[in-house]
Amino acid sequence: MTSATDDKTIVRNYFNAQGFDRWSRIYGDGQVNKVQRDIREGHQQTVDHVLYWFKQDGATDGLTVCDAGCGVGSLSIPLATMGAVGAASDISEKMVEEAKVRAAVLPAEAMPTFEAKDLETLDGTYHTVICLDVLIHYPQAKAGAMIAHLSSLAEERLILSFAPKNPFYTLLKRIGEFFPGPSKATRAYLHSEGEIRAALRANGGEIKRQEFTATQFYFSRLLEAVKVSK
Ligand code: SAH
Repeated sequence: MTSATDDKTIVRNYFNAQGFDRWSRIYGDGQVNKVQRDIREGHQQTVDHVLYWFKQDGATDGLTVCDAGCGVGSLSIPLATMGAVGAASDISEKMVEEAKVRAAVLPAEAMPTFEAKDLETLDGTYHTVICLDVLIHYPQAKAGAMIAHLSSLAEERLILSFAPKNPFYTLLKRIGEFFPGPSKATRAYLHSEGEIRAALRANGGEIKRQEFTATQFYFSRLLEAVKVSK
């Protein structure tokens, strides 16, 4: 479906316009307001958890990593400095362009490949596929297909984060702090943790490690689903 109201079209347009302004600022180190600073710190914790898992495992050198919905490269850039061979992609051209600018600090041989692409059109296989804080932009009905496709690209594991549904977060979302602005109602989807876990299992993933990050305005469940059937 390609109509203007299609979920992906809405998300791409948002991250090429006001969403780009908002999130590239939050995922940066410049001045932001209090809510944005809180979200920045929460998101950084999610990124740090993933980096820590790689460090725990050791031998990141040469591992192929697909960062689906890479944003401005907050994860791909540090992973590249650890020696991972990165394929970073995002549905928003603007986010990818900004990621390239920020990655310019990397030596040429460590440079991830950057591509503007919807995660469902990605192909190839990678040791690890990662998709952080992307599902929040899609309703539960879309999440299953996204997880199935991401799983099909992963040789060893899929690392995924999402905002879990519970009464408190549902209330917070309704109050609108998480996505301030006129279009907030269509912007944040909370997901049933049970359904996400079931989708990961259905695609051959067994949850090995998990984390939960909650600051005042940011909350994200992080799961590592290791392939049991390849
Ligand atoms: N994963 C990054 C960025 C999170 S922001 C990080 O944690 O730093 C969410 C990103 O997902 C945005 O850059 C948005 O453009 C991207 N995105 C949303 N839907 C997508 C899709 N279907 N395919 C690929 N990227 C998508």
